[in-house]
Amino acid sequence: MSCALFKNIGTIVSGDIDEPIINGDSIWIEDGVIKAVGNGVGDESSADLVIDCAGTTVTPGLIDSHCHVILGDFTSRQNQIGFLESEVHGGVTTIISAGEVHLQGRPKDPAGVKALAILAAKSFQNFRPGGGKVIGGAVILEKGLTRQDFEEMAREGVRTVGEIGLGSVKTAEEAAPMVQWAKEVGMTVMMHTGGTSIPGSSVVTADMVIKANPDIVSHLNGGPTAVPIEEAKKLIYETDFALEIAHCGNPKVAVETGKMIVDAGAKSRVIIGNDAPSGTGVVPLGILRVMNLLASLTPIRPEEAVCMATGNTARVHKLNRGIIAEGREADLVVMDAPMGSVGDDALAAIEAGDNPAVSIVMVDGKMVVNKSRNTPPPKRKPMVG
Ligand SMILES: [Zn+2]
Repeated sequence: MSCALFKNIGTIVSGDIDEPIINGDSIWIEDGVIKAVGNGVGDESSADLVIDCAGTTVTPGLIDSHCHVILGDFTSRQNQIGFLESEVHGGVTTIISAGEVHLQGRPKDPAGVKALAILAAKSFQNFRPGGGKVIGGAVILEKGLTRQDFEEMAREGVRTVGEIGLGSVKTAEEAAPMVQWAKEVGMTVMMHTGGTSIPGSSVVTADMVIKANPDIVSHLNGGPTAVPIEEAKKLIYETDFALEIAHCGNPKVAVETGKMIVDAGAKSRVIIGNDAPSGTGVVPLGILRVMNLLASLTPIRPEEAVCMATGNTARVHKLNRGIIAEGREADLVVMDAPMGSVGDDALAAIEAGDNPAVSIVMVDGKMVVNKSRNTPPPKRKPMVG
């Protein structure tokens, strides 16, 4: 058995937005799974890895709910390699595909999109860029897909429907039966919302989203162009869809909708995505930046912003992670205020609008980052023994 102990933790953010802070100073892990959380838990003498957090903050590994992966750690959109590993250095331990839409020569027939989704799902089951987990293979809806196709994809490991609106299925009438089939086989369904993102995609209104009935309103604040604020309001107040705030969207609408979400009591529905790579670029710290944006300019508390990027997303995507609790996968991040920040710890830095400093990233009980190459250095450095 392989055991790990986090001790001398200053603050534990649970990932559970109903109870974001856990009273405790230590976390005990056995074979990649969290076994105990609290004060003085675990057995240091039998630990294979001891991380003395020096009074800093531990959060669940962040989940990027919206990434246009292809295959491998490469994107043809910006001709970059290593962009997924770079996200892991920003505290992201799970990256969820919103559709492999940037594949050069992407097939647009039912057999082709089905094959691509299965291939991407299976290849990312065998490949962890920088140690991070990728949920690849988000099928893009094209005309002609059948119920049998969804059954086959689910059987072969496809868990998600990529953003509706990126393929030839564009109207709510065309999408609705496929959404139903996808949900029946257990998939989570995302829908592009707002203006056209790239040539070939289309403008999606609130009414179209409501009629299509997905699980997730992708980039409520635009990807990159936002819906009018009245439409965003309708989606917040009149539906129970998960609401994604994306980095590569409209920051004004992110702030406006953040305020409405608090007013509507809808904080548990918010998830955070990068929507990179896109025309906006590759953004390794996009998830941290959206957390900062929401926590610094809306009534959303910094620990709640962390939960929006962890436990909320895990719940919507049916993943056994994103929450620090017994039985969950041990995907964790140690973070602190960056040197020079007005904040004294990670949450105060986030509330002040600063990117927190990521010190350690763990996936399934194994340390995959021991010094982030992308965030500034922390005020207090954990000791690893
Ligand atoms: Zn989109």
